[in-house]
Amino acid sequence: MQMKKAVLMVASAVFIMSCGDGTTTNETKAKEAPMETEAAPEEDVPAEVTLHIDGNDQMQYDKTELTVHQGQKVTLVLRHTGKLPKKAMGHNWTLLKEGVDWEGFDKEALKYPDNDYMPKDTKDVIIHTDMIGGGEETSVTFDAPPKGTYYFLCTFPGHASQMHGKFIVK
Ligand code: ZN
Repeated sequence: MQMKKAVLMVASAVFIMSCGDGTTTNETKAKEAPMETEAAPEEDVPAEVTLHIDGNDQMQYDKTELTVHQGQKVTLVLRHTGKLPKKAMGHNWTLLKEGVDWEGFDKEALKYPDNDYMPKDTKDVIIHTDMIGGGEETSVTFDAPPKGTYYFLCTFPGHASQMHGKFIVK
């Protein structure tokens, strides 16, 4: 009787061990496969990206939509391709937090002529460039916000109706 019990216990132990090993191996394989699949598209997304947008003397940006990916370090280069000075045809690139009404923000910005039409201590802005005039260039670097659709605009008086666009984070 005692011998039989011992044999059974050993047999069970061997069974459990081999079963455990088998499960572990399978799990490892199962995890590796989808991870490789998921990682593939991410490899195509560089950690840093530089975006260019131009503003001209006709109160226009050359782009109405910019797209980045979540987690990217973004450098936005704003170039003023016109000739008019900042006081007459200033341009900036102002990125608003998600859900902020750009028309309402633009009206608020009118109250800050001494601050290049940028509301002081505002909580509505993610990042903005300096205000520049014709022939000038400026840039800002920031971390892309979470996935979503955001608005950007130029806050110089009267410009935003033409100079605004969507900033999409995928
Ligand atoms: Zn402008």
